[in-house]
Amino acid sequence: MKYADLHIHTFYSDSTFSPEEVVACAKSSGLSAIAICDHDSVNGIDFCKKCAEPAGIEVVPGIELTVEKSDAEIHLLGYFIDWNADWFKKKLKEMQDSRKVRIHSMVEKLSEHGIKINAEDVFKSAGKGSVGRLHLAREMLKTGKVKSFREIFDKYIGFLKSCYVSNVRFSPQEAIEFILKAGGVPVIAHPATMGKDDYIPELVGYGLKGIEVYHTDHKPAMVKHYEDMAKEHGLLMTGGSDCHGLGKGRVLIGTVRVPYDLVEKLKEESERIRREYR
Ligand code: AMP
Ligand code: FE
Ligand code: FE
Ligand code: ZN
Repeated sequence: MKYADLHIHTFYSDSTFSPEEVVACAKSSGLSAIAICDHDSVNGIDFCKKCAEPAGIEVVPGIELTVEKSDAEIHLLGYFIDWNADWFKKKLKEMQDSRKVRIHSMVEKLSEHGIKINAEDVFKSAGKGSVGRLHLAREMLKTGKVKSFREIFDKYIGFLKSCYVSNVRFSPQEAIEFILKAGGVPVIAHPATMGKDDYIPELVGYGLKGIEVYHTDHKPAMVKHYEDMAKEHGLLMTGGSDCHGLGKGRVLIGTVRVPYDLVEKLKEESERIRREYR
């Protein structure tokens, strides 16, 4: 059997892993395909392809976007996007730039809470990646003022917590349309972490095509629940580890895997989308 891990980050967003490290892990866990889904960035895709193809591993070009409802943060994956389209890359660049402004705003709020962070250190930690809350969280830990990622997100920088600043540039509908226009297959990421299933039918109305049913944070009962939901709405069931290298502790590549057939189904869906939406 051939398997794929369809949710992997690189250091082009908030993973600690380079494309070489991602591919080496994928190889040692016996995967046939990996999807690179960095936050607001496609900059790692070509590098991953270059390392992966000689190793016999297929790279699915992907993206992970963030949108919000008043009471929920929603992550959307896009598979088989046309990652080299200029208009697409231009919009992502705007999002990457506004992420920097947002870090400055969160640093200012944290300072009002007695946590002094130098934004430049956060940018250094992000290197060439889209800078985000995981980079900020790492710098917060170094101050010794906070004890764990849990405390950091629950008290300070989690969605709508005291020092949270949004970087949302799209409504949910616009984000789905952005993915569709790029020929990508829009899939809701780890819906259990959003915890608001009521929004899924609305997203289906905008063109959502799949649910990330299998994910590191999904317990077996949730998997069953989202399998049922996917069947009810006629959606593809995707899955991936959401590996952030060492960024969240353990290396997860290959720990959540789906049969390779799904890659073929996503490819077919992308071809259908390209005919329908362009
Ligand atoms: P950003 O793209 O900057 O909004 O940051 C998103 C990153 O922060 C993702 O990699 C998430 O895993 C992480 N994150 C967001 N909320 C939490 C949370 N409550 N606990 C742990 N990590 C979180
Ligand atoms: Fe992340
Ligand atoms: Fe996510
Ligand atoms: Zn992710």
